[in-house]
Amino acid sequence: MYEIRQGSSGLMFGKVVLITGGSRGIGRAIVRKFSQAGCSVHFCYKNSENEANSLASEIVRSGGVAVAYRCDVTDREQVERMTGEVLSSAGQIDVLINNAGIASAGLFCDLCESDWNRIFDVNVKGVFNVTQAVMGDMVRRKQGSIINIASVWGEVGASCEVAYSASKAAVIGFTKALAKELGPSGVRVNCITPGVIETDMLGGLGVADLSALAEMTALCRIGQPDEIASVALFLSGEGASFITGQVLGVNGGFPL
Ligand code: NDP
Repeated sequence: MYEIRQGSSGLMFGKVVLITGGSRGIGRAIVRKFSQAGCSVHFCYKNSENEANSLASEIVRSGGVAVAYRCDVTDREQVERMTGEVLSSAGQIDVLINNAGIASAGLFCDLCESDWNRIFDVNVKGVFNVTQAVMGDMVRRKQGSIINIASVWGEVGASCEVAYSASKAAVIGFTKALAKELGPSGVRVNCITPGVIETDMLGGLGVADLSALAEMTALCRIGQPDEIASVALFLSGEGASFITGQVLGVNGGFPL
């Protein structure tokens, strides 16, 4: 069900972080960023076993702690197994980053029920599954930070991405509501809404589409995964200790 690669080192930042969808793209950059900050990083993947194992090996070789789990976030049993393993090996989870997500494009009139369900299963139910499995530990210790990766499309809507936009809008509502519920327990819940970021998720777009998207951005370029990872690191740290329930756009000035 899951695989483990582990190493050890002195921890600078000393936090235990669980990142979903850490094998590629933004999640991969977040894994690297938190590891470089001295965190013990635990991350899951669904299909990209080679990428996940090579990332964990890279971190372990450089003296960090990295554990990769094969875990489909839509499957509650796998999620509970993974979080149980993290808690028993690391003792606690300080930061959860719900990053795993999928997208698909097409006219709404052509959207079939199975595609709608697939997108909501990963993007919304996945966040529900992992958060519920992790939050008990945070509430008991009266501390913790949960960061959800939504999307600018969840704020403004994207033509031909109705299911994706709706699922990301759900993640924004989830964030605000849970922040209110967990605030009294000292657990912060925030959301990052990336703009257009250069990852495999943009694979379906041609050069013309990409340059049109760059032109719509105030900074006249597409963002890099590391630029999302830096914000996730900030939101999880002491500098953000009075920030909760917020939706932080990291979009280069993409029009809203
Ligand atoms: P990628 O397609 O590059 O990576 C997606 C990651 O999610 C992979 O690691 C993949 O793992 C994992 N994943 C997908 N489904 C599951 C699942 N069921 N269980 C566990 N892991 C899963 O996407 P990005 O890095 O671009 O996207 C990351 C997040 O950022 C997503 O939530 C996305 O919606 C959001 N986002 C991205 C934007 C962009 O422009 N790139 C813009 C706005 C938001 P594996 O390969 O192993 O299956």
